[in-house]
Amino acid sequence: MATAAVPTPSSATTSAPPVPVRIPVREVLPWAVFMGALMLFLIYFVGAEQGATAIFSGTGVHEFVHDGRHLLAFPCH
Ligand SMILES: [Zn+2]
Repeated sequence: MATAAVPTPSSATTSAPPVPVRIPVREVLPWAVFMGALMLFLIYFVGAEQGATAIFSGTGVHEFVHDGRHLLAFPCH
């Protein structure tokens, strides 16, 4: 009766060790600043636009983000 060959660490095929990917901070920093500014802009619209402050008149933005505002525990009404 033949037994199934169970691979062991010593019998496994060897491959080249993984090479770590280098991500230079110089290339990532502008995108991080841009995404941070974009997130601050979005959190302003969800949390404060047409509530505490208003760039646009009316209630369109407020109604559009109203559920998100309550979900994130911003004071609303
Ligand atoms: Zn509300």
